[in-house]
Amino acid sequence: MLTATCHCGAVRVTVPRKPRTVTDCNCSICRRYGVLWAYYKASTVRAEAAPGALHRYAWGPKTQYFLRCATCGCIMCWQKIAPHPENRTGVNARNFEPEVLRSIRVVPLDGASLF
Ligand SMILES: [Zn+2]
Repeated sequence: MLTATCHCGAVRVTVPRKPRTVTDCNCSICRRYGVLWAYYKASTVRAEAAPGALHRYAWGPKTQYFLRCATCGCIMCWQKIAPHPENRTGVNARNFEPEVLRSIRVVPLDGASLF
């Protein structure tokens, strides 16, 4: 188990294991957020936050939303809007401890051309 925390500590995202790789995507939103995504089956990821402590953002076809801490603004993860146990979710690996992130290979993704 591994936990990603926001800067102020109001939001914790727990994942089952360290990812083998993280994705550095250059699409219109990921490049602005400066995130590195670790992917998991949605049912294995737990986000803990007090009521109202998470803000959501979705755009375009609104198939997924991004969750960020309402207090400190850190991007925590994205989730599919329609819940399904087989859904994938992306967790922002920037919120793992630095020594954990340092040991994971970063894979570039040309999302700007794909999405
Ligand atoms: Zn926070």
